[in-house]
Amino acid sequence: MRKHLMAANWKMNKTTSEAVAFINELLPLLEGVKDTEIVICPPFTLLSEMKRTLKGHDDIELGAQNFFWAEKGAYTGEISAAMLKDVGCSHVIVGHSERRHIFGEKDDDIHKKIDAALAAGLIPILCAGETLEEREAGKAFNVVEKQLENALQGLTFKNRGLVIAYEPVWAIGTGINAKAADAQEMLSFIRQWIRKKYGDQSADTIPILYGGSVKPANIDEFMAEEDIDGALIGGASLHAGDFARIVRSGNDGK
Ligand code: PEP
Repeated sequence: MRKHLMAANWKMNKTTSEAVAFINELLPLLEGVKDTEIVICPPFTLLSEMKRTLKGHDDIELGAQNFFWAEKGAYTGEISAAMLKDVGCSHVIVGHSERRHIFGEKDDDIHKKIDAALAAGLIPILCAGETLEEREAGKAFNVVEKQLENALQGLTFKNRGLVIAYEPVWAIGTGINAKAADAQEMLSFIRQWIRKKYGDQSADTIPILYGGSVKPANIDEFMAEEDIDGALIGGASLHAGDFARIVRSGNDGK
């Protein structure tokens, strides 16, 4: 059985006091939740304080939204995988479409980051997804396959040592979510791709998430689909009540 996973991507939002207030509001709302893995990915500046605030709540894990693949050195403004481990991160988002499209990250950068994250013992949440133009041209499956192929080629990972998030670019932050059936079709395709490349154990244990305008009002439809193991949530994860409702939707394994 795969445990569900709900990951919050706060993007460039919240100050320290706002983050602490969020956690204090969230914790009582999650009472009784035990079958869903929860990962919160705040901005770098909040990681240490969030770790302190979450002391004694090991069921909520911390992730980063990005890092640089080199071990250390003259890379002004960058953060390494070891630094993320040092502040208590277990996960890191890699290849988010905002990194690809706004900051020009290429598949090669993403491959190096996955490699470095795995080497440091971080679990990468690898994002892949097509643009609207690519979907309309009937290329969605090819685009996602290529992104996964380029990111993971030559790398090995332990079961649950990798998370894949299918995030159609046109659904991120737009309020327009994919239809649950379309998301299921893509996630089933991804799971078959993993099965073919890495075998049954990986295909049956690697969590595959959907991301793109997930909200309390639509999460149940997604979680009813066979291959959807959870969600990567942007906007709705900024509100403790909405995020708790989404987490509760996943509170039974598949
Ligand atoms: C995201 O940032 O990964 C995301 C899915 O954002 P939103 O939920 O706001 O669409």
